[in-house]
Amino acid sequence: MAPAPFVVVKCPDCSGEQTVFSRPATTVNCSVCGATLVLPTGGHGNFRGEVVRTVAP
Ligand SMILES: [Zn+2]
Repeated sequence: MAPAPFVVVKCPDCSGEQTVFSRPATTVNCSVCGATLVLPTGGHGNFRGEVVRTVAP
């Protein structure tokens, strides 16, 4: 089973949930408070918040 392209991450600061690309090319910030949610690694992103669930394509 291939990894899901998108995941829902819970922001560690405001607990808001945001759907993000699982292999981002750039840092992904929370749309509500601006906290860093995912850091790019060149592969699977480094998630700073809790991954709530994956999103099927
Ligand atoms: Zn936030």
